[in-house]
Amino acid sequence: MDIYEVSSETASPYFPVIHGVLIVEPIEQQMCSTCQRPFEVVGECATWYYKQGKRIRDFVSHSDMTGLACVTQRVIDGLTKHGIKGWKAYEAEPREVPRLLKLRLPKLFALGVDNHWGKPDLEASGFGDSTFCPECHKFTSEYRRPERVVLDESSFDWDASDFFSFRPFGHSVFVTKRVIEIARTERWTNAMFTKHDARYAGGRPIDYLAKDWPPPDWD
Ligand SMILES: [Zn+2]
Repeated sequence: MDIYEVSSETASPYFPVIHGVLIVEPIEQQMCSTCQRPFEVVGECATWYYKQGKRIRDFVSHSDMTGLACVTQRVIDGLTKHGIKGWKAYEAEPREVPRLLKLRLPKLFALGVDNHWGKPDLEASGFGDSTFCPECHKFTSEYRRPERVVLDESSFDWDASDFFSFRPFGHSVFVTKRVIEIARTERWTNAMFTKHDARYAGGRPIDYLAKDWPPPDWD
């Protein structure tokens, strides 16, 4: 079973067409009680900045790192309607927007994983010799960037959730193919889905609104 990283097509905060920027606050630094090093914790408070004149699409740009996408009510409704499991969402507050305009803006929600984790197969991913802190999952041996990430599929509870995270390589949100099928059915706009190791292996996003469906290597 494959999982796919979810983000928005214009995900980079430096991308010229920014519809809004999601800021998740606070990204707190906590101290790991096992290895005594600081690690980042995503707080449950999101704000976003709106640039006037830009059309808001279903998946709004956000800065990387947060592990949350920012989405419209349509996306929340679609996830609910199709019985998608394992996600959580909370409303994001628009910042620096004139009061009258604020009333007319749609609600946006920070969307993330509701505590469903899996693990990479470290041996198969080429990290058989590395060691990690059991609490904060940071490298305790020398850090190396993966060339690919092979998942330990037995560590994912496929019946419990369609949303996942895994460590130690980042904080991203990953979804199953079911979620991509729903993105297609519901015609969500500006969503981006890339295979879980695309960032390291250079894979292309899934063209989920393509005329020809499913893609060739889709089960
Ligand atoms: Zn630690």
